[in-house]
Amino acid sequence: MLGETLRFAQNDTVEKPFNGVTYNLNYMKELEGKGAIVTGGSVGIGAAIALDLARNGAHVAINYRKHADEANKIVEEIKKLGRKGLAVQADVAKSADAEQMVQSALKEFGHLDILVNNAGINQDSVVWKMTEDQWDNVMAINLKGCFNYIHAVAQLFKNQNSGKIINITSINGLRGKFGQSNYSASKAGIIGLTKSVARELGKFSVNVNAVAPGLIETDMVVNAPEEVKQKALAEIVLGRIGKPDEVAWVVSFLASDKARHITGEVIKVDGGQYI
Ligand code: NAP
Repeated sequence: MLGETLRFAQNDTVEKPFNGVTYNLNYMKELEGKGAIVTGGSVGIGAAIALDLARNGAHVAINYRKHADEANKIVEEIKKLGRKGLAVQADVAKSADAEQMVQSALKEFGHLDILVNNAGINQDSVVWKMTEDQWDNVMAINLKGCFNYIHAVAQLFKNQNSGKIINITSINGLRGKFGQSNYSASKAGIIGLTKSVARELGKFSVNVNAVAPGLIETDMVVNAPEEVKQKALAEIVLGRIGKPDEVAWVVSFLASDKARHITGEVIKVDGGQYI
């Protein structure tokens, strides 16, 4: 590695040579000019991810299903940061919507470099009471939704010989959870999908990773019963519920060239909830 120049952004500046390697210390420029899609970027973790990518220099397209006003507000914030932003109403469960969104982002940004599969839902029930709809809805949005967007960008990333795919799974996909057989199965599926696609796209210099949050303060958990939240809180070694930004920072790192030798990995962001 000695003598190599590490390049983290298109317009990076050489700032500090050290030990034969030249580092760009300008964190805010790491994703300068990159084009990104974040699914489910209207609220919660997805909104935090969209904004953090934009703070790091990326143009960001988000989709949503219901929260149009919130999605438009996130796009306004992205634009205030001097980046291009786009909000699209698109259901991740529909492959045609995914293809269309990728085309819209490409048209708007001129290129696409980062895909973050974040959209997700939970419809909890113990397995003996779970309806077929509860199973199908969660699988269609959480797991097939991820596949739809990966499928929509795979050929492009392969052709351009670059790309970053980051899938948001959950610690419950690693350990299972009482009352969440559908959700946990969908999130475990995302891990298998991540590892398989990492193998398939590795030789095209595409990094494919997953981030597994523990309990994070968003609408998804606000409505959970207090007893469930207290039980989860008691598991967290750091003693507090995580924040959406704390997930977003790891996603931005994985989207950057600092993570260029990481692929097929699952990184927990859970304050030690599942050790
Ligand atoms: P959230 O606050 O409920 O937000 C979910 C996002 O997904 C919203 O932007 C929503 O958009 C979007 N969405 C849902 N269904 C969609 C669909 N069919 N098509 C397009 N967008 C759709 O959830 P969150 O807590 O931020 O969770 C984000 C991700 O992190 C999920 O994958 C979740 O499983 C995962 N996660 C969360 C936690 C946690 O504790 N919060 C822990 C582990 C993993 P609209 O509302 O506008 O439809």
